[in-house]
Amino acid sequence: MNDTAAFFRRNEVQKILRLLIDKELTTITPSLSYEFGVCYEAISREIKRDDKEIAAILEELSKLKILEQDVTGNIGVCPICSSHKLMVELRCPSCKSSKIVKGIMLEHIKCGYVDLEEKFKSGDRYVCPKCNKPLTTIGVDYRKPSVVYKCLDCNSLSPTAAKHHLCIKGHSFEEQNLIMKPVITYKFDLENRFLVEKELLEFDTVLNNFREEGWHIESPAYIEGESGVHHEFSFSIWFTQPTSALGWPDLVAEHCAEENEVSSTPLLAFQAKAMDVHSKEKILVAMPGLDENAKLLARGFSINTVEGSSAEEVKEKLKQTLLNIKQKRSKAVLEAEKAALEEALKELGGTIDRT
Ligand SMILES: [Zn+2]
Ligand SMILES: [Zn+2]
Ligand SMILES: [Zn+2]
Repeated sequence: MNDTAAFFRRNEVQKILRLLIDKELTTITPSLSYEFGVCYEAISREIKRDDKEIAAILEELSKLKILEQDVTGNIGVCPICSSHKLMVELRCPSCKSSKIVKGIMLEHIKCGYVDLEEKFKSGDRYVCPKCNKPLTTIGVDYRKPSVVYKCLDCNSLSPTAAKHHLCIKGHSFEEQNLIMKPVITYKFDLENRFLVEKELLEFDTVLNNFREEGWHIESPAYIEGESGVHHEFSFSIWFTQPTSALGWPDLVAEHCAEENEVSSTPLLAFQAKAMDVHSKEKILVAMPGLDENAKLLARGFSINTVEGSSAEEVKEKLKQTLLNIKQKRSKAVLEAEKAALEEALKELGGTIDRT
């Protein structure tokens, strides 16, 4: 379970999940090339990872029932190094010699002699090298059955040759040891999009509730700081709708995910960015969690932290954190309004009816 959560936290896995949803990729078709072997261009165009890594992620997603596998072909690969870059050498099936030649076989029906076509050639006609009779009519006194391999070492004739393979790394093996690797097309059923959305680390589903209540939210947010540097945040919030230009944000949030723990380095970078845009509230979404140092620093800088190992857990906790901030804020707003009212009444010489 923990391994699964770590798998879904990986950046490249998240990008593939995004592609499934945003591009509605229902079929991920493999393509074959000598250079790259099997590749999934719909994915590799978008994420810069090697084809083996992409194939491994797709396979894992099918184990997790998000994708369905459909075997649509195969390629032969080296049993030692799995390379698909192979050369073929034909060998004599009897003595394994590679001194063999390929030719057309002729059979002189009258005497039963069989050999390569060229052995019968005499000028522009065929003459049997065994009985010296001319061959006249195909199907009557001679047959031309098929292609034949003749071994120059043991002289045997055979309709097939043994295939011997040599891979790019120099491993040499017989055809019977060749590994057949299935070529798989992956299918995604859009009815299963909820399975993907559950694992997707994007916060719009949570943020939309607060947008409806009047907060101005940008996600992702690009804000120029006081220093002139442009910062990117996972999202940022203005608690009141801007009348003209956006001022400094009231809240900025950053998301970072690690296989194990989030250290203080990304936290410090976030703190610096948040200060540069004068944000009062800060949320750091750290998956699966912060290490001890980072926790202490977060407290010191008054950064709200949201920790969790799965997207679902994190989204639920983020929602709670935003609700708390909203509550705290409405209390503060009410108190400020009350104070302002009292002040106004005092100036008018009136009193507040406290009954
Ligand atoms: Zn090999
Ligand atoms: Zn003959
Ligand atoms: Zn031979």
